[in-house]
Amino acid sequence: MTYDTNNIFAKILRKEIPCIKVYEDEHTLAFMDIMPQAEGHTLVIPKEAAITIHDLSDDSAANLIIKVKLVAAAVKKGLNADGITLFQLNGEQAGQTVPHIHFHILPGSYLTAKAHAKINADTDSLEAIAEKIRKGF
Ligand code: 5GP
Repeated sequence: MTYDTNNIFAKILRKEIPCIKVYEDEHTLAFMDIMPQAEGHTLVIPKEAAITIHDLSDDSAANLIIKVKLVAAAVKKGLNADGITLFQLNGEQAGQTVPHIHFHILPGSYLTAKAHAKINADTDSLEAIAEKIRKGF
């Protein structure tokens, strides 16, 4: 499959559409999931154009997991979360809906989380949660 340069995360990376950012560096962007499965649901994406983990370079994969660890710690601290779930879907069969690789950081348990990519949250509430996460770095 060819990388779709017009997927929603590619557009976010090009700043063509907005996101509620909590972290950015040369290789990585982290922002609030617009349809959170729990309060504080955050996405971490590499800037490299890759659909799944199988397409990602080793360098980007290594950097990505380090940044997932960093952002997950900020989510945990900023939201005073007891437990953090990480998940990452590869391919439509696995349930991936946006074809640019990303890790999900979900405070709490996936077992009690809301449905995947279904219910939009309002921008003001997401921004308030993002501000707490930013303070967790
Ligand atoms: P996937 O199904 O690919 O693992 O996860 C994609 C995630 O992106 C979903 O959790 C979904 O809620 C989120 N998402 C979809 N469109 C947007 C968007 O335009 N902005 C943001 N911030 N998140 C999005």
